[in-house]
Parts: sequence; structure tokens; C-alpha cells
Amino acid sequence: MSSESYKVIECPHCHEKFEAKFWSVVRGDIDITIKDLIINEEFNLLMCPNCNKIFSYEENFIYMDPEEELFVIVMPEYYRNQENVIEKLKSDYMSIKNMLSDKKELNMEPEYLFGADKLREILLDDMNREEESEVISFICAEKNYRTKKIKKNFARKNKLPVVLPYKNATEKDDVLSILDEILNEYPKLTTLKTLAKLLSKTESARIEFIEDEDKTT
Ligand SMILES: [Zn+2]
Repeated sequence: MSSESYKVIECPHCHEKFEAKFWSVVRGDIDITIKDLIINEEFNLLMCPNCNKIFSYEENFIYMDPEEELFVIVMPEYYRNQENVIEKLKSDYMSIKNMLSDKKELNMEPEYLFGADKLREILLDDMNREEESEVISFICAEKNYRTKKIKKNFARKNKLPVVLPYKNATEKDDVLSILDEILNEYPKLTTLKTLAKLLSKTESARIEFIEDEDKTT
């Protein structure tokens, strides 16, 4: 589903002009090698076929991963102050989105980022929170506590784990007592600490940011 585009680029070293391939849509759940390029800061690199020198070139692209609730439009950093260019891109992308969104899971608003390194930060943060969530799930299984999935986009925005431990009911007090207990034993679980802080500030007993089904690991 990922799509490519071609553009003629001039090498900044030898000034040779050549046609370079760009990804215009990257599916993070399918194109794992391209996702790795972004994480390894190699996504924007081009190699001149004439002088073999490598240089960085930014082009706008869409990154999406429906399962992760991630839909991002990445623009080059130098677009930041060019509002008319950004507006045009946004409307272009809305039409692409309409073409792509026959699946209901893609029906979310895109986020706009400047620079692939900003997307990289998000992907790395996702990976860290995912790892800590696995530890939390493991601890809960040991203690016979249950877990619900936290909505991915909410977890991302609030630096939370993607799982919510509970014992009897997914209500504030029940969850907070479990979090206290786990954090006493494992004080380094930072996402869990953030979750406890967020819940203690919440007024209602009902927790809104979870999925219906239990998380099965
Ligand atoms: Zn060159």
C-alpha cells in the first residue's frame, strides 16, 4: 500500500541531476524496513549516482499505522514558515486520505509534523512505552490482575502505558490501589507513575480512555 514518487534532484556536491525515489505514503505496520530507516535516521538520505556522495534531502510524506492509531503528515522543516504551501499540502492530503480511508480505522485526523526526526521521536517513544507496557502486563499476570488496553493515541499524547491494570472494576479507586501496589515494588515504571498521577487528578470514577475488551497477552 505504500507508494513511491520520483523527482529530479541536483547533487549538492557534483551538481549532477538525477531521478530519486521518494516514499509518498509509508505504512508503518507493513513497511517495517522503511520504518527502520526513519528510526535509524536514514530515511532522508540520497546517494548521488555520479559522485557516490550521500546527502540529506527532505520531502513531504504520509506515515500511517492504523493499528497504532498513528496518522501523520511529515513536511520538511523549511516549510514551517510557508503557510500557503502548507495549506495546499493539507488539502492535497485530505483528498489522498479520502481515497485511502475505505477502512474505518483510518478515519482519524492527521497530525502535521515538520521533519522526519519529529516522527522518529514519536516512534521511539512508542517503542519505549510499548516495552514498559509488556513489563506491566507481565507483573499483572503474576499478580493475577487484569488489564485493559488504553487507547493508543491517548496513551501517546499523555505518555502512558498502553495497558491499564485493574482488579475488580475499571474504576478510578480500584485502579489507583493496584498502581500504588505495583509502584511500591517497581518504582521505576515511569509510564505507570504518569498514569497514577493522571488518574488521581481525574474527577469521575469512570475511566474513559480504555478499550472495551481485556488485553490478552
Ligand atoms: Zn554527486
